[in-house]
Amino acid sequence: QTILAIESSCDETAVSILKCVKDTQGNINSITILAHEVESQIESHAPFGGVVPELAARDHLSKIYDITNSALIKAEISQKELTAVAVTMGPGLIGALMVGVLYARGLALSLNIPLISVNHVDAHLAPALLLNEFSPQHDLGVCKNVSQIQYPALALTVSGGHCHLSILSSATSKSLLGKSLDDACGEAFDKVAKLLGLGYPGGPLIENLAKSAEEFGNTEEFKFPSKPANRENKYHFTYSGLKTAVMECIRKATGIKKGKITGKDLPKEKKQSIAYAFQQAALMQLHDRVHNAIIDYPDIKTILVAGGVAQNKKFRELFSSFDKKIIFAPPALCSDNATMIALQAVLSENSKGFTDHPFAKYN
Ligand code: ATP
Ligand code: MG
Ligand code: FE
Repeated sequence: QTILAIESSCDETAVSILKCVKDTQGNINSITILAHEVESQIESHAPFGGVVPELAARDHLSKIYDITNSALIKAEISQKELTAVAVTMGPGLIGALMVGVLYARGLALSLNIPLISVNHVDAHLAPALLLNEFSPQHDLGVCKNVSQIQYPALALTVSGGHCHLSILSSATSKSLLGKSLDDACGEAFDKVAKLLGLGYPGGPLIENLAKSAEEFGNTEEFKFPSKPANRENKYHFTYSGLKTAVMECIRKATGIKKGKITGKDLPKEKKQSIAYAFQQAALMQLHDRVHNAIIDYPDIKTILVAGGVAQNKKFRELFSSFDKKIIFAPPALCSDNATMIALQAVLSENSKGFTDHPFAKYN
C-alpha cells in the first residue's frame, strides 16, 4: 500500500508519501516514510500576527502542484505506483481545505485509486500511535517500531485550535472525555505572544522567553490561575480567562489604560516573567485534566500526547512525572504535516474501510 497524503487545513501545505506493509490479517508490519514535504506559510501571515484565511487558500493553491511533484521525486516513485490518496477533510479553514480536497480528488480520479478522507484532529494523534521515533532531517527510512501500545490509553491532543482528551480502547476506538470550551491552548500561546509583541507563531517564542526567565531567575513576579476544573468540567479546557488575566497584567505593567494593549516595549525581564507565568498556568491546566482522568480511570495504562503544543519541552518534562507509560508524538510530527494524515489513513482503513464521506464514495 503506497499512500500519498495531502494536508492544507491551515497554514502548512504538506504532502507525504508512505508505504505500509500489512500481513494477511491486516496487521501493520512496517511503515516506510518515502517523502515528507512541509511548506509553511509563516512568512505570509507573520505581519498580521495570525493566519489570514484568504491568503492561506491562495498560498496553498500556488504551491500544491509543485509540492506534490517534489514529494514524488523524493520518494522516487511514479504516480502510477500510488494505491490511494488521503486528504484532510476538516476541521480547518474552508478555503484552505478546499484546495487540498479538490486537488486530492482530482489526483485520485485521474489515477483511478481510492480517496481516503481524514479528520485532522484525529490525525494529530496518529504519529504517537504508530511511530516511536521519526526524524525527517536524518532519514526518511523505515519506521519499524510500530508502537506496541497498551490499552486503555488516555490521549491528549493539544494544538492551535483544539484540546481533546480521549480514552482509547484500541488505536481506532476513541471516546472523547473533554475538550476546549473556548480558546485552545496553542491559540492562547499565539495570542499572548502577540500581546507581548513577540511575533507568530507564538508557542516556541513563549517557550524560549520562559526558559530565559528560569535562567535569569525571573519566575516569581507573576502568577496566573491554572483554572483547576470544577466538578462538571473536570476534563474540559478553558483558556480565555488566562488570556484576559495576561492582558490585564500587561495593562498594569505598561500603564496603558485604554485602547490597544501591547507589551512590546516592556523591559525584557517583565516579558520573561509574564511568559513564564503564562506557560506555567497553561501547562498546569493540561496536567490537571490528565491527573483527573487518571484518578477516575485507574485502568489506564498509557498516556499519549500529540499536537503542536506537544513540542514544548517544559510540557514534556511536566508530563513525564506521571506514573504511567507516556508516549509523545515525535516532535517533527507534532505540528501540521501530511505524514500524520497518511498514518491516520492507514488506521482508518484498517478499522472500517474507506471513510463514508461523499468525496470518498465517488468510485
Ligand atoms: P488544529 O490542529 O487544532 O486545527 P493547528 O493545526 O494550527 O490547529 P498545530 O499545527 O497542531 O495546530 O499546532 C500549532 C500550534 O502549536 C500553534 O498555536 C503554536 O503556537 C503551538 N506551538 C508550537 N510549538 C510550541 C511550543 N514549543 N510551545 C507551545 N506551543 C507551541
Ligand atoms: Mg500551522
Ligand atoms: Fe493541526
